[in-house]
Amino acid sequence: MKKLTERKVVLAGAGPGDPELISVKALKAIQRADVILYDALVSKELLLHCSKGCKLVYVGKLKGRKEFSQEEINDLIVFYASRYSYVLRLKGGDPYVFGRGHEELEYAIRRGIHVEVIPGISSAIAAPSAAGIPVTKRGVTESFWVITGMLASGEFSSDLELASKSSATVVILMGMTHIKEIMKFFSENRSPLEPAAVVHYASTDQQSSVKGNVSNIASLAAKEGISSPAVIVVGKVVNESLMEEILVREEIKMKVAV
Ligand code: SAH
Repeated sequence: MKKLTERKVVLAGAGPGDPELISVKALKAIQRADVILYDALVSKELLLHCSKGCKLVYVGKLKGRKEFSQEEINDLIVFYASRYSYVLRLKGGDPYVFGRGHEELEYAIRRGIHVEVIPGISSAIAAPSAAGIPVTKRGVTESFWVITGMLASGEFSSDLELASKSSATVVILMGMTHIKEIMKFFSENRSPLEPAAVVHYASTDQQSSVKGNVSNIASLAAKEGISSPAVIVVGKVVNESLMEEILVREEIKMKVAV
């Protein structure tokens, strides 16, 4: 392996939101970078670890507000890589999970830039976990699927139909805008009582979640004011969440301590 100092553009995952859920390797990259291009879902606390002269460039694309197009981001990466020796492209979760990270690297590689990837903890796994939901459990589910609510074309993915016909845990990213329509697939192909949960801003101070079934989860989420960014989880594992028990025990512990 080549030394870190020889690399040009590093594409790294910052994890789901909790600044402690980043890898040691990605944290070292933050400390070492000359320029950091970061997304909206990257914890601002992580950026405090950058070096004194480091240039911080926000290139976020929050839902409903497209401040930077993908083409502009690609060009910015190449622009900075040609001027600085260590450019870090920091993305929420894992850079390859619905993150367009591969497109950014392809663009940079075609322009002769040396690249490296550091994976991150994806919200696809961290969000269910933060709500106490195991994505797999022996005897309950045999696999889990991670799918997107909507394709770039504005259509539902054909995988959504397949996933809803399987018995797998299904984790849906970017699905809040069309949660009602998405849940209909599961209601029809599984059962209207199939368990479902929504986890909003998982692993951050703003985390909130609701649990129900595929027939009522959209209205439960709306009632709680839960929208994007959130992960929808469908499957029997939702009923395996130990969160309430953990919270009750914490409460008992606190009472005992007081
Ligand atoms: N690469 C990211 C996903 C980018 S797509 C990852 O691996 O996590 C953006 C979507 O991810 C959001 O619309 C939402 O569905 C999900 N997401 C990202 N961070 C989240 C968080 N902290 N809590 C809940 N959902 C999150």
